[in-house]
Amino acid sequence: MATDPVCEASVNPHNAYWMIWYKGTPYYFCSEKCQLAFDMKPETYRQRVLDRRQKEAVY
Ligand SMILES: [Zn+2]
Repeated sequence: MATDPVCEASVNPHNAYWMIWYKGTPYYFCSEKCQLAFDMKPETYRQRVLDRRQKEAVY
């Protein structure tokens, strides 16, 4: 499962209607609304996703 970077809902990449490639990474969205929000401030949401991945990483 992928996570919607805007609202943090779980999104199944296989049937996601809304997807954006940004800096070589695909982002999946639960709705057009979330995709548009990402489109407005992609760098903000990209950074948020990176921060969360770092917190979840297990070393
Ligand atoms: Zn969403």
